[in-house]
Amino acid sequence: MFTTDEDIVWICQYCGEQNSVWVDLTVSSKLDFIEDCMICCRPNRILIRIDEDENIFLESRPQDE
Ligand SMILES: [Zn+2]
Repeated sequence: MFTTDEDIVWICQYCGEQNSVWVDLTVSSKLDFIEDCMICCRPNRILIRIDEDENIFLESRPQDE
């Protein structure tokens, strides 16, 4: 069942630690955003994509790329 909000785990590209972020998937503008790492406080760019089967794909990138 598809939910419209999720706690999504992402990996910090600077220190490699896991972070989680709550995302409201009904707000399309929130699918590309900057999130600070809880461990090293550096900003990562989070990109979320949802396919036609409603699988959620998440990618994190260093902000400066
Ligand atoms: Zn980090």
